Amino acid sequence: MKLICVGRNYTKHIEELKNDRPDAPVIFMKPDSSLGQPGQPFFIPDFSSDIHHEVEVLVRINRIGKHIQTKFAHKYYDQIGLGLDFTARDVQLDLKNKGLPWEKAKAFDGAAHVGKWFDKTKWSDGKNFNFHLNKNGETVQQDSTANMIWAIDELISYISTYFTLKIGDVIFTGTPSGVGRVTRGDVLTGILEGEQAFEVNVR
Ligand code: ZN
Repeated sequence: MKLICVGRNYTKHIEELKNDRPDAPVIFMKPDSSLGQPGQPFFIPDFSSDIHHEVEVLVRINRIGKHIQTKFAHKYYDQIGLGLDFTARDVQLDLKNKGLPWEKAKAFDGAAHVGKWFDKTKWSDGKNFNFHLNKNGETVQQDSTANMIWAIDELISYISTYFTLKIGDVIFTGTPSGVGRVTRGDVLTGILEGEQAFEVNVR
């Protein structure tokens, strides 16, 4: 399975990192070895002194598909979750400045955390989800998928023009503003529509 991630999908987050607004979704991937084990802490790697939390709504693909049209994209997932795209921001900045790929900053061991899955029809219209991230009990990131530049169905269509989507693949749909550094001892809690999706201890 693969983890496909979207960058720069919320306007306020683009502004906080002083990035340009893209004219197409920014896509990158994480390997399955980047997945943190459920219930295990996140360990800050030695090669970074600026690991950021990025809370993101996740979509789990349940049918194989390629060249999926936006209007049919809803048939390719029935579960929604919340996860963390841990990012070594210092490493990423260096790579970005050199015009190099981001993998060392985004795809290292433990850099992806996938929380609990929920049936997408559990709430409202199955499209717009409110979510937030608490760090040590204080809300640091909060938004709704209604504020995405590219909606989930548009992302699935766009991604599938390049990569065949397979059962079990997970899409990280981008982070809202409020990203920030994690330090040892932090507790990160993700809440999707009032339900706790994950709790991760930082070590
Ligand atoms: Zn991200």
